[in-house]
Amino acid sequence: MKFGGTSVESASALERVASIVKARLDRQPVVVVSAMGKTTNRLLEIATAAAEGKQNEALKLLSDLKEYHRREATPVIKSDDAAELEQILTDHFGELQDYVAQIAEVEEFSPRLVDSVSSLGERISSRILTLVFRHFGIDAVHLDARHVIVTDSRHTQASPLLKKTYARLAQTIPPLVAKHVVVMGGFIGSAEDGATTTLGRGGSDFTASIVGAGIHAEEIQIWTDVDGMLTCDPRIVAGGRRVKTISFAEAAELAYFGAKVLHPATVHPAIEKNIPVLILNSRRPEVEGTRIVSTSVPCRNVIKSIAAKPNITVVKVQSLRMLMAHGFLRRIFEVFDRYPTPVDIVTTSEVSVSLTIDNPRYLTEICEELRAIAEVSVEKQMAIVCVVGDSIQDTPGIAGRVFRALGDINVRMISQGASQLNLSFVVAENDMKPAMQALHEEFFRDLDPEVFD
Ligand code: ADP
Ligand code: ASP
Ligand code: MG
Repeated sequence: MKFGGTSVESASALERVASIVKARLDRQPVVVVSAMGKTTNRLLEIATAAAEGKQNEALKLLSDLKEYHRREATPVIKSDDAAELEQILTDHFGELQDYVAQIAEVEEFSPRLVDSVSSLGERISSRILTLVFRHFGIDAVHLDARHVIVTDSRHTQASPLLKKTYARLAQTIPPLVAKHVVVMGGFIGSAEDGATTTLGRGGSDFTASIVGAGIHAEEIQIWTDVDGMLTCDPRIVAGGRRVKTISFAEAAELAYFGAKVLHPATVHPAIEKNIPVLILNSRRPEVEGTRIVSTSVPCRNVIKSIAAKPNITVVKVQSLRMLMAHGFLRRIFEVFDRYPTPVDIVTTSEVSVSLTIDNPRYLTEICEELRAIAEVSVEKQMAIVCVVGDSIQDTPGIAGRVFRALGDINVRMISQGASQLNLSFVVAENDMKPAMQALHEEFFRDLDPEVFD
C-alpha cells in the first residue's frame, strides 16, 4: 500500500491512512510512504537557496519545514512518543543543516548531494507514520528503504538493481510482515557504495511496485488524491470520469505521456510478476478505484484516457545533405546520447527530423553540435497530447476523429506510437487545454459502463 504526499500531508490525512491500513490488517500490508505534502519541493528549494548564497533564507525554510512536520504529527502520535518525534526531527533536520552548510560553502550541489537532501522527506515521513500507526493501535515497524532498495549510482534518476533488491526484500520483509505492518519510505534507495540515491520525481509509486514484486504481493495499491485513473488530468479538464480497468500497456503509455497519477516505471515490476496495480483515493477509500491488469476487458470506447505533457521543446534538424544519404539519423541521435537527453517523439521527412525533449538541460550544447551537421531550429513551450487505447490499432477512423475534433488548432508533429496504442501530437502549450477539451468531448460523451464509472 503506497500513500502519496497529499495522502499524508496533515494530521487528519495521517489519521485517514491509519484507518485505511487498520481496516486491511488481515491482508498483511507493507506500507510505502511519500514525503509529507510538498516536502520534496521544499527540500530542493532549501538546497537551491543555499547554493545561491542565501543561507539565512535556507535556514528559515528549514525551520518552517521542521515546524510543519512537528505541527502535523504531534496530534496523531502518543504523548509518550513526543520525545521520539523530537529526536527524529532533531536528527534529520540537523543533517539537513549540515548539507546546507556544505552547499553554501561551495555555492553548488552535486547530484549526490541533491539525493542526500531530497531523500530526507521520505526518511522523516516513514518514521512519523510508524509512530502514527502505533498511536492508532497498529503494530508497526520501520524499515529503512535504503537497506532493501539497491540502485545504480545515477543520482537523482537511479535505477534499481532488481535482482539484488528482490533478494533483500525477500529476505527482510516476510519475517516482519507476519507480525507487523512494515513501513518504509518510497523514492529512496542506496547505491552499492552506500550513498543514498533517489528514483526520480514521483518515484514512490515505483518503490511500491518493486516491493510488491519482490515479495510476490497479491496486489499493489497506489493510494492518492483522485478516484483512480481518470479519462483526463483533472487539473486540465474538469469532469473526467474514472476508468475502472485498464491494461498495463495503456497505463504505462498514459504515465509516460503525462498522467502524473502513476510514475511511468511502476508497471514494469508488476508486469514481470503479473501483480494487479490498483489506484485508490485515500480521501474516499470506499470508491473501487482503477484496476490495472495484464489484459484489458473489451470496451465499446476505443480511447481510454487522454494525457498531456506541457513544457516540451521541439528541435528541428534540417539538411539537404540528408537527401538520399544514410547514417544521418545516427549522427543526430548520437548527440542526444552524449548529452543524456531522452527523446520522446520523432518525425522525419526526406530532409528534416523533428524531435521533442522534455529536459532542456543540455539544449545549448546539443544545438551547438547539431549545427555542425545541419540547420537547427528550436521551439519552446510546446505540449504533447496523447490519446491512449489498446484498440486504436485496429479501429479505422480514429485519426480522422482526433483531427476533426481539433478543428483549427495547429498541429506541429504527429506520431502514432510504435506500440500502436497511442496517437500523439504536438501543439503549442497555449493550445493544450482546448485540444484536451475538444478530444474529451469527442471521445467520452457516451461511455461503456463496463469500463467507465
Ligand atoms: P501522489 O502524491 O499521491 O503521488 P500525484 O500528485 O503524484 O499524487 O498524482 C495524482 C495527481 O495526478 C492527481 O491529483 C491529478 O492531478 C494528476 N493526474 C494527471 N493525469 C491524471 C489522470 N489521467 N487521472 C487521474 N489523475 C491524473
Ligand atoms: N516525494 C517524491 C517526490 O515528490 C517521490 C514521490 O512523492 O513519489 O517526487
Ligand atoms: Mg506521485
